[in-house]
Amino acid sequence: MISAPDTTHDHAPAALNLVDCGVIVLDAEYRIVLWNRWMVGRSGRAAARVRGHSLFAVFPELGGSRVEAAVLGALGDSAGAARTVSQAQERTPFPLRAAGSFDGERIDQAIVVTPFREGKAVFCMIEIRDVSGIVDRERHLLEHAEALRARSYVDGLTSIHNRRYFDLSLERELRRAQRNGGDLALLLMDIDSFKAYNDHFGHQQGDACLITVAQALAAMMKRPADVAARYGGEEFAAILPDTSAAQALCHANAIRAHVAALALPHAPAATRPHVTLSIGVATYEAGRLLDAPSLIEAADRALYAAKRAGRDRVMLESDIQETLQA
Ligand code: GH3
Ligand code: MG
Ligand code: MG
Repeated sequence: MISAPDTTHDHAPAALNLVDCGVIVLDAEYRIVLWNRWMVGRSGRAAARVRGHSLFAVFPELGGSRVEAAVLGALGDSAGAARTVSQAQERTPFPLRAAGSFDGERIDQAIVVTPFREGKAVFCMIEIRDVSGIVDRERHLLEHAEALRARSYVDGLTSIHNRRYFDLSLERELRRAQRNGGDLALLLMDIDSFKAYNDHFGHQQGDACLITVAQALAAMMKRPADVAARYGGEEFAAILPDTSAAQALCHANAIRAHVAALALPHAPAATRPHVTLSIGVATYEAGRLLDAPSLIEAADRALYAAKRAGRDRVMLESDIQETLQA
């Protein structure tokens, strides 16, 4: 015969059938002595079918779970405090589903295990609360926050990364290059004679042109760590980690050729009949181009040199240095 606490008799006391949470009482042998109506609805098991059986025989999957640890801990320390198994630790330890649906998703559970004594006998009470609503709300908030965060790194017009993301990425990649003694290349790109484009085709078509060029540029990023961003106005930037000056020059020329090959008609006043890019390239060098401002400044110098040399071309910053020194 199973020794049950005086309060439970054969049936759960009426009040325990009214509470909006699962209540299970176990004796020292883990046998179920009380199983309230909430549990019946969510587990699909009548009290009469589980009473007298070990909780771990009814739900073998609880073996090795935090719930099992809490029950063992509580029964081994009957004077101890309540033990909680939060939803964050174990989301759905019991196979419980919303009342009336036995094939739906399990409900998220927050569980408290409290030991108590009746005379010499030791028991523990397991309370199970349905926190699915809270979890859904939390997930929704997290997703919303993530969407906001992602949006704050995206340029509103072109949908590629924005200046903010560029600044953060450049700082991060510079730190990485410094740590690993690796290469890092920076490309600054500017659409040639874009003022003339706007003047000829109008600002709206100018916007459409920026979107096309930006998307083409983003599509040219090969590695996951490469970053293409709108730097501002009709200027774009690319960060290429682990890329030497020679490789960066090659990549910049490929980008330049790719944009030229789009053959977007340009204004009559432009240098070319189609839309082109000038590109300045600078690479991180220990001892010289150390930080973001000096690297950007170097790439900008190279870009300016490319413009002066006739536009629609790529210029490497270290080449201008040599030209100046020569
Ligand atoms: P360069 O070859 O020397 O680069 O000549 P440019 O005409 O491109 O250079 P400039 O800096 O004089 O002009 C840049 C133009 O880009 C002027 C500005 O109106 C246009 N622009 C900047 N941002 C936007 C934008 O968001 N949309 C449109 N349609 N035009 C923009
Ligand atoms: Mg410009
Ligand atoms: Mg320009």
